[in-house]
Amino acid sequence: MTGLLAATDLDRTLIYSRAAWQVDGVGPDSPVLDDLVCVEMLDGAPLSYLTRRAADGLRELRALALLVPVTTRTEAQFMRIEVPGGPPEYAITTNGARLLIDGVADPGWTASVGERVAGSSAPLAEVAAMLLAQSPDWMLRVRDAQEAFCYAIINRAAASADALQSLRGWCAERGWSVSVQGRKLYCVPDLLTKTAAVDEVARRTGSTLVAAAGDSLLDAGMLAAADLAIRPAHGELHAADWSCDGLAIAPTPGIVGGEQIVEWLLAQARSASAERSAGAAQARDNAGRTGAHGVQLV
Ligand SMILES: [Mg+2]
Repeated sequence: MTGLLAATDLDRTLIYSRAAWQVDGVGPDSPVLDDLVCVEMLDGAPLSYLTRRAADGLRELRALALLVPVTTRTEAQFMRIEVPGGPPEYAITTNGARLLIDGVADPGWTASVGERVAGSSAPLAEVAAMLLAQSPDWMLRVRDAQEAFCYAIINRAAASADALQSLRGWCAERGWSVSVQGRKLYCVPDLLTKTAAVDEVARRTGSTLVAAAGDSLLDAGMLAAADLAIRPAHGELHAADWSCDGLAIAPTPGIVGGEQIVEWLLAQARSASAERSAGAAQARDNAGRTGAHGVQLV
């Protein structure tokens, strides 16, 4: 496999809940909402969507590139999603703590990441206790994600800038980072990255060209490390005016931006595919000339 590896975040990059698209500026009367595909149900109710054009584009993309979903969701949360085109061969969950191959976590990867993180960051229990010690006015519930990191449901309106800044500083001193996405606040060990897991998939598949898409601070390293990168015009990175070399930005915020990201990935895959075809033709041409030369020598 030497074609494009398309590593993409899911929530608020490819797929959107009703809360996410309303926050991101698509009103309840938008015509966009007439043609959505539901890709996740929770407790019998639809939860996450993409546009039909995005779903069709993803199927097309998968014929040309290796699509690798890269999410901070846990394995169980990821398995609820029906990826257009069927279950992916590779997926990265739990912010890089799990590498799924045909839906099954690779035990060697889980162990090696666990060892790396344990040697570099304060224990999860210490960070979770710090979250629980915050005011219940804004820190509503605290959870751990497969014992790899912790996250909280917060009341964003009641979260003061000072409290957030203080928490970020406290975490940084202990080798942890904080990311706030909608109503969720994530505390993640610095060495638990999507980037390392994407590198591993690229190594295993022999991919030499990586395109990455994402919207949050937890995606920043993956975007910066990729050969090609895109983010939407909404979300945590957009709010921070974050950029990296050659970064593309989907122009329309919200769920339509997700569709534009798929179209951009598809364009990169087509371009990589055309270059490979041209390279193969050139190689055949060179081999033909060498062969003719060889015959002459004999
Ligand atoms: Mg996201």
